[in-house]
Amino acid sequence: MKTMTCKQLGGACDKEFHAKTFEEMAEMSKKHGMEMFQKGDEKHLNAINEMMELMKNPKAMAQWFEGKRKEFDALPEDR
Ligand SMILES: [Zn+2]
Repeated sequence: MKTMTCKQLGGACDKEFHAKTFEEMAEMSKKHGMEMFQKGDEKHLNAINEMMELMKNPKAMAQWFEGKRKEFDALPEDR
């Protein structure tokens, strides 16, 4: 398992996610983002808006995603 925070994944808080694969990590972060979105958390709303802007440009989005995947791969395994 590896650990990344909401902030590291383009979010807005220090909540930690633990996952074995990057896909799993991305999924958890997305779910958390949706939850915070529904609660109307302002910081997360801003983060989500930024992410939506990024998604308008598929190339930039793919680059962002790959960058995060590399970050994930470089992380040490949790003990
Ligand atoms: Zn968060």
